[in-house]
Amino acid sequence: MKCILCGSDNTNKIDVIKKDDLISLYKKAFDINVENIIKQDLFYHHCCDCDLRFFTLENGEIPSGDDGFYNHLNKLPWYYMQEKNEYHFAKQFIKKDSRVLEVGCGKAAFASFLPNKQNYIGLEFSSDAKKLAKQNGINIENISIEEYSKSNKTKFNIACSFQVLEHVTNPYSFIHSQIKCLNWGGAAR
Ligand SMILES: [Zn+2]
Repeated sequence: MKCILCGSDNTNKIDVIKKDDLISLYKKAFDINVENIIKQDLFYHHCCDCDLRFFTLENGEIPSGDDGFYNHLNKLPWYYMQEKNEYHFAKQFIKKDSRVLEVGCGKAAFASFLPNKQNYIGLEFSSDAKKLAKQNGINIENISIEEYSKSNKTKFNIACSFQVLEHVTNPYSFIHSQIKCLNWGGAAR
């Protein structure tokens, strides 16, 4: 199995997570039916070169949540937090005229920490989050960063994500696409 971050072949399978266990745990803990998302057992791997741990299906594909899954999580009061400690750290790097892209923005709570929310775009798969943000005058797009970066190269000064990377199916292209959107990183290919 190739590492999904660094591409190394030096990986080990460390566990197999049974499909039925996952389905019953999601049902019990969150009352979410994930039968449509989790159709096979998940394989858990470790990369000996970059130390990433990651899940795949048996054929190497990476499972991900869909709109219904994240809309459901969205209803849990703790899932999209109004405030994360990282917001206070990150906002000190953002000036009034900084154009900010947040990828995996949830309800875009971070936007209210910024000096100018008109210069903010959030990306998030949940259509409910988009509707909610719009009521507060905040722009969210329901699109992947890979797609978004194709037509928004070099448009931003800041790209950020908070507690998102662990949900991402392809961490390499996720980070690379964010860099393409930055004014100093737009030459990245
Ligand atoms: Zn690796």
